Amino acid sequence: MPEQSNDYRVVVFGAGGVGKSSLVLRFVKGTFRESYIPTIEDTYRQVISCNKNICTLQITDTTGSHQFPAMQRLSISKGHAFILVYSVSSRQSLEELRPIWEVIKEVKGPDLTAIPIMLVGNKCDESAELHEVSTTEGQGQAQQWGVHFMETSAKTNHNVKQLFEELLNLEKSRNVSLQVGNKTTSRIAKDKCEVM
Ligand code: GDP
Ligand code: MG
Repeated sequence: MPEQSNDYRVVVFGAGGVGKSSLVLRFVKGTFRESYIPTIEDTYRQVISCNKNICTLQITDTTGSHQFPAMQRLSISKGHAFILVYSVSSRQSLEELRPIWEVIKEVKGPDLTAIPIMLVGNKCDESAELHEVSTTEGQGQAQQWGVHFMETSAKTNHNVKQLFEELLNLEKSRNVSLQVGNKTTSRIAKDKCEVM
């Protein structure tokens, strides 16, 4: 178990091109870019509240499947919460998450219920005929893996803040929330994706 430090570490995994960097940049900076710039590995920091104190939310945007296995295990063992991203327009990208889920289970498991893990179907803005993975299938996969589920669009900013809110709400060993100060976090309901 990682020690209860002042950092709360979220690690984002997924195949190249599914929108990991776009989701993180949308959340941290509020921006979106159409062009694809492959990521090495970036960590973003934000101040959040943790057991009524201030702590640092660290979001690590990984390279995807090309991460060295030893580095992958290290990010998993140091991580507190995980976002597993696929693109709803690529079944292959969902399948590529399985080995990562298996390593998480091996390192953190076998019971993953206490660990905040969100399976995320990104690019839900893309037109329906491009969708290869339906919402029901995504939900089914999440249920089978014992993780939570959400559909997002970094492009239209759909469910992006909710994704991080929900993920932090799943942490039961301490009270982490995006709100800093006296304001209490109201749970934001995740809404359904509207396909263009
Ligand atoms: P990463 O390799 O997983 O970090 O993927 P990127 O964030 O670099 O995104 C890959 C490509 O997908 C870029 O061209 C993005 O503009 C595009 N993209 C990312 N998120 C979305 C989304 O929600 N909807 C659509 N339509 N395109 C997206
Ligand atoms: Mg990237």
